[in-house]
Parts: sequence; structure tokens; C-alpha cells
Amino acid sequence: MQRRVITDAKRTEPRAWLSEVASVALVQSVQDAHRAYRNFFDSLSGKRRGRRVGRPRFKSRKDGRQSFRLTRNGFRLRPGGRLFLAKIGDVAVRWSRDLPGEPSSATIIREPDGRYYASFVVEIAPTPLPPVEREAGVDLGITRLATIACTAGTRRDVVNPQYLARAHRKLVRTRRALARKARDSNNRAKARRTVAVQHGKVARARRDFHHKQALRLVRDNQAVYVENLDIAGMVRNRRLARAVHDAGWGGFVQLLKRKAERHGRTVHVVSRWLPSSKTCSACGHRMESMPLKIRQWTCPGCLSVHDRDHNAALNILAAGRAERSNACGAQVRPPLGVAQGVETGSTPDTAQPCGNPHPSGRRARQMVTNNEAESRYEVHVDGKLAGFLEYRDVAGVLALVHTEVDEAYAGQGFGAQLAKYALDDVLARDVKISPLCPFVAKYIDKHPEYRVTVR
Ligand SMILES: [Zn+2]
Repeated sequence: MQRRVITDAKRTEPRAWLSEVASVALVQSVQDAHRAYRNFFDSLSGKRRGRRVGRPRFKSRKDGRQSFRLTRNGFRLRPGGRLFLAKIGDVAVRWSRDLPGEPSSATIIREPDGRYYASFVVEIAPTPLPPVEREAGVDLGITRLATIACTAGTRRDVVNPQYLARAHRKLVRTRRALARKARDSNNRAKARRTVAVQHGKVARARRDFHHKQALRLVRDNQAVYVENLDIAGMVRNRRLARAVHDAGWGGFVQLLKRKAERHGRTVHVVSRWLPSSKTCSACGHRMESMPLKIRQWTCPGCLSVHDRDHNAALNILAAGRAERSNACGAQVRPPLGVAQGVETGSTPDTAQPCGNPHPSGRRARQMVTNNEAESRYEVHVDGKLAGFLEYRDVAGVLALVHTEVDEAYAGQGFGAQLAKYALDDVLARDVKISPLCPFVAKYIDKHPEYRVTVR
């Protein structure tokens, strides 16, 4: 195959130009084409998962970014910092840093702004950082590039420098100049280069910023959880497209993963369908909708006031930790915010799991309700009873007969959670409750909507 498309082709008149370039580069091109076709056919036949792979296309002489790859015997490092390239000769290089090892291949790239780069593949040993306890959930956004919630309870915001937006006017001007130039003219080529230079500046500034932020995240946290964003879908929204491109989430997440791998840390991508913005990170209450313009909201379930992005980051952190501990063989738990327990208007009579209301919960948690003549709400953690609340119907009055939260689980909000479920139930049945235990009373104090007549 390789012989036919390279050696034989060189001998034909129209393909004689193939002998002008290094044969190593041609072999690499054939291999790339082979892989492209394999991916395409595997994708067609369903053997390859993920997005559909399109039919391979030809390179064009007019492509903005051009490159070729050389393996070991196609290049050599010369003393004095020069680089020998097959069929080209010695090239002066401005090294960005020392090569950390023996390179196995080199790719020569010409960017649209006319700069040439040499990119080497070098095997390097990972440099694990000392382990830390902290883990972080990251909500990626446009107003802020990242809102970070940590297990330590701290929050950190990373601004979005919006490099493209800042350079927008300049870019529009250079683009317009380009549009006025005559086709195939030298002036047009010059104008095109100016546009490319501007874009190159924006891209480099953004990449530099991403590198710094990604390294800081990976250094400070043992595990980083990010959302699986539908970037392709968002770009289809014309009003969002430019801002989404400018933020460059995809590149940022790629950098995060690479740095994590190198430093012995974990980056875990949380399911795309997590309703991270709509769910209250304190009690698990799920809002019907959460338009983008709402930056801050109050949860009707527990009255906590949430910053939209920080709340989402907390949910991503909780879901990420749950997904990972499930993958490690822990008890399976319903996903965050899926089951909301008692619905108003219905009586709980079956065991109902409840969403994990706490972002700190690594343990699997479950709430159980039994209802016959009596109602008993239980919170289970890893299959063990962590707390319960029990009331009975006594001649039309629901009497709270027993309530307890195991000391080991005190202060984790189980009390309020139990109270909420019990009171939802009471309201649904339109009956009175008596007597109230202290934590239910405290809960009602904070939530006037649950104020029921006490006899
Ligand atoms: Zn809430």
C-alpha cells in the first residue's frame, strides 16, 4: 500500500513533486490517511462510539495551518541548537525550553500568521505531587470562566478574561480591510496575514491563561470534577457562539486532564444530564427552570440563597464524588436531585429513596418511608440507620412519637431533611400535628410555608 502510493506515485509525471519532500513525511501522511479512513468506516458501521466521523478530506495548499511530521530518521538535533530536517537542511530554532528527553517524532507546523513551529513528542516520567485531601467541583461559565467549590468549604472564582471580546474591534477592522482587497492580490495576502496575527495573539493569551489556571487547580486539589458540557450544542446557539469559543472550555478541560495525569491527580467528568444549576445544593430541591439571566436565587425548600454558579459547582462536586465512589464499588445511590421524596398531594406509602441533599456526602444515603397507621421516615447511610422520625395518627391528629438522629451523623442536616419530609406529608393530608419535636419546630420557624396548627 505504502509502496504503491509513495514509491510508484513518485515515478508518474503528475506526482513527480512527491520526491521533493522527505519520504518520512509521506509515510506519516499515508498512516494518517489510513487512520482517518479506519475511523470513518468504523463510525459508519457503528464499531466506533462517540460522534460520527466524517469522510476524510484532502489537505489544501491554501489551508491556514499546515504541518508535516517526521520520525526519528527524518530529523536530528545538531549542536548549537540547530535542527536538521530531511530534504530541508539545518534550521535555526528559538527553543522555548530544553527538551526533557530524546524526541521520537517532530512535527513542523506553519500557523496562519506565518510563524513556524517545531513540536516534539517526548516521553516524560510523571512527576506526582504530594497528595492533598482537597477536592474541587468546577462550574465553567462565561461571566466567570470557572467557579470552584472545594471540599474544604471554600470558594474561588476565576475571571474570564474574554480575550476575543477585547480584541473584537481590532479584528473587525482588519477583517474589513481584508474584504476590500482584490482577489489573489498581494495586498490581500498581506491583509490575511494581519488578521491571522491578531487571532494568533488572542489564542496565545488565552492558552497562557488556561495553563496557569489549570495548573493551580490541579496543584491545589486531589480530584477535580467538571461538567460534561455540550459545547457543540451551545455553539449552535448564535448568540452564545462567540462567547463560548472565547471562553475555550474544551481546551481548558483538555489541559486540566493532561496536567492531572502528569501530576498524579484525577479529573472526572460528571454526566451531562446533571441538573447542576436547577438543584439546590443544600436540600436537593429542584427548580422547574433556571433561566440563564438569573444569577442568584432563593431555594423555596430550605430558603438558602444561592449564587447560581457556586451552587452548580457544589452540585458538580457532590455528583462527581458520588460517581467516583460508586465506581469504586460503594453502594449505588440515586443520582442527585432525581427523587424528591414526598410529592405534595400524595401520601407516602412505599419506600422512597431521596436525593442526596448534601454536597459533602461521600456515603450513600437513602431515605425510607413506611406508612400504615403510622409513618416512619428513616435516613440510611451505607445501609445503616442514621436517624428516623415517627408519627402516628391519633384520632385525626398526627402525634410525633419518636425522633432521633444518631450522634455520629449529627450536624449533617438530616434533622431538617426528616422534618421537611414529615411536614410535606402532614400538609398533603391536611391534618394537624402534635407535639412537635424541637428540630421540627426549629425547621418550621425557618419555613413559614410549613406552619401548621398545633394542638
Ligand atoms: Zn434548598
